[in-house]
Amino acid sequence: MSLLPLDQGLAQIRASVDAISDTEICDVSDAAGRVLAQDVIANAPVPPVAKSAMDGYAVLADDVPGTLRVSQQVFAGYAAEPLLPGTCARIYTGSVLPSGADTVIMQEDVERHGDNVAFSATAERGNNVRSAGCDIAPGDFVARAGKVLTAADIALLSLIGKSTVTVKRRLVIGVFSTGDELVISGTQPVSDWQLVDSNRPQIKALLNHMGFEVVDLGIQRDDKTILEKTMTAAAPTVDILMSSGGVSVGDADIVRDVIEANGSLDFWRLAIKPGKPVAIGKVFDTPILCLPGNPVSAWMTLLLVSKVYLQKRQGIDSEPIIPVIGVADFSVAAPTKRQEFLRVAVAVVNGGQTTISLAGNQFSSDSLGLAQANGVAIVPIGRAFEIGDEMQVLPISQLMDSGYHAV
Ligand code: AMP
Ligand code: MG
Repeated sequence: MSLLPLDQGLAQIRASVDAISDTEICDVSDAAGRVLAQDVIANAPVPPVAKSAMDGYAVLADDVPGTLRVSQQVFAGYAAEPLLPGTCARIYTGSVLPSGADTVIMQEDVERHGDNVAFSATAERGNNVRSAGCDIAPGDFVARAGKVLTAADIALLSLIGKSTVTVKRRLVIGVFSTGDELVISGTQPVSDWQLVDSNRPQIKALLNHMGFEVVDLGIQRDDKTILEKTMTAAAPTVDILMSSGGVSVGDADIVRDVIEANGSLDFWRLAIKPGKPVAIGKVFDTPILCLPGNPVSAWMTLLLVSKVYLQKRQGIDSEPIIPVIGVADFSVAAPTKRQEFLRVAVAVVNGGQTTISLAGNQFSSDSLGLAQANGVAIVPIGRAFEIGDEMQVLPISQLMDSGYHAV
């Protein structure tokens, strides 16, 4: 079987997966991290009327320079009277600009003598005034459907008077590990031939971070009958199943067999390292995403591949990742068949140079190196890097929060 370039795999996913249509109403104050289901468009200006951007005096620009009497004081939170011609109004940040005034002069730029204020300079009309609708005009897009709502969106939605918002229902993902060698961390002595199941907690943490609901389906033994039973029971209760291990071509790779016997499986050997074996299928009428067994491979394929599937299905219109460019302090030979994704530490050193160092030994089992990394450096097929060469790095923070668009 030939290797499938990552871009082609992702394009296939984008073309074939539809967003769920289920929505729910959510309080705006609880909506951070939720996916907006409908465009939100402003129907009123913000601010609704002209307001002062400074503490100072509201005037008609034509009246200065000169000395003007203070005819009113407008506090934030109170209405303003029309400005008496030939006078000024004491005004504060956020106060309504009285009608008849068009400019605010900062209090630092005037001299006050009792009820009179001396303005020594000419004023530029409109200075220090936030005009009606200067932040948001009626008809402006406040947020587009598909956006994962941020704290700033919550502020914005509140500002335009929304107390609830329509969001997509959260996808429910059933996660299980496979392998006779696996044991649950901390619950029993681990024999030399056994291995702690580190994938399941890692995958659950990633999915939770991305805002999905997770159902833990535990460790599944390499036994077709038991696995079939688990999948039949779990499939109707979740939107998507996610497994790790058991999908390459070894004798004990039973996940693949069970899916093929009860649905269909698209098995891909992606041209990426780590993470070559990835499978996407349907079992008992439920989509299933199969990740490789090695923890670093599982992490990488979840973030580079499965996430694209999950985001599309969840209806997320993700921001593209903006790679960081840095200078490698290591060399790497040109890959011949698979694009490589190295776990690296990016740091800013010596007067601002961004340097890239390898994190860990780069084995696909090296969770320590992965935990120490803050970026994933890309090594394209056929491209060698020497010490001092510039490389592109995907920041892990962005990999976690944005969509992957191959670079
Ligand atoms: P497999 O794809 O099942 O052949 O697994 C590949 C490698 O990943 C083997 O060394 C497994 O022991 C290891 N592995 C599989 N599942 C897990 C897991 N849940 N946690 C940690 N390592 C795993
Ligand atoms: Mg296995």
